[in-house]
Amino acid sequence: MKILKLLSIAMIFAGIISCTGAVNQPVASFGLVIHGGAGTITKENTSPEKEKLYSEKLKEVLQTGYKILNKGGSALDAVEKCINMMEDSPLFNSGKGAVFAANGKNELDASIMEGKTLNAGAVAGVTHIKNPISLARLVMEKSPHVLLAREGAEAFAQEQGIELVDEKYFFTESRWDRLQKAKQRETDRKSQSSLDIHPDEKYGTVGAAALDKNGNLAAGTSTGGMTNKHWGRIGDSPIIGAGTYANNKTCAISATGHGEYFIRGVITHDISAMMEYAGKTLQQAAREVIQRKLKAMGGSGGIIAIDHLGNVVMEFNTAGMFRGVVTDNSQPVVLMFGEEQK
Ligand code: ASP
Repeated sequence: MKILKLLSIAMIFAGIISCTGAVNQPVASFGLVIHGGAGTITKENTSPEKEKLYSEKLKEVLQTGYKILNKGGSALDAVEKCINMMEDSPLFNSGKGAVFAANGKNELDASIMEGKTLNAGAVAGVTHIKNPISLARLVMEKSPHVLLAREGAEAFAQEQGIELVDEKYFFTESRWDRLQKAKQRETDRKSQSSLDIHPDEKYGTVGAAALDKNGNLAAGTSTGGMTNKHWGRIGDSPIIGAGTYANNKTCAISATGHGEYFIRGVITHDISAMMEYAGKTLQQAAREVIQRKLKAMGGSGGIIAIDHLGNVVMEFNTAGMFRGVVTDNSQPVVLMFGEEQK
């Protein structure tokens, strides 16, 4: 089993290495890469039970996405479905497991982008939408706009026949406790700054990026944002070019981390632009942006991405990142900790 896993990892990274040699050959005819957030995720602070829970859920998501892509389904469908599954799980900071804002509400952000048309849709600060990624897709496909926020986004949802859920649907005890702790820390520091990142915290946003059999790329991201966010704060996840980007000429990317830095660094678009204008490979561009640029700004987090040739990258500058990958020629692989990447 371990050998199989190592072999699959080797095959994925063989794809990465082959592209650094400027071989413009496809390494996979379709593929999917997902994340469930980055942060202080280490073997020491993850119980075996927790590891199993995350591992099983991420594997289930990969298997579902694989089936869609293998049947000839679109990258967009695979991305939406995979994110729906993570939104419905309390394990992740999106949909059902979303963190609480300072006002005690769960304010959700999401975005989706299609690489062929460069069409995109996003929602921000919604409080009654069970699956924000699906609403983001509707914004892309059924509205003339890209980003809808708050009550407006929810009015649009109703017009589209999406049922609004009660705010109570998003309540989870563990996230509520985290808000109380964050508030306590804020009082202790007598500070206004709400987005302090405690070492125990992780960014649990979810995302997916896929390449389908037709050569189309898509990416999406969905989140509750950051615990104790104030004043209608919106992070990078619904911002195209910051939290999500897809372009058939380059790659599809979803990010997770401290959103303010991803917005200011225009992180996902930057990676795509380095490929498009500077001829960098996905791996080179991702490493440069996440390990050098983002770090130098003081930002933490990571990205998952797949390029138009099927090369996959999962790059982060935190201790760990919940992540997984499957392609037409490699078994599903789920990873969590940093040492597995290096
Ligand atoms: N990027 C998200 C935000 O800043 C948080 C996360 O990735 O978990 O809203």
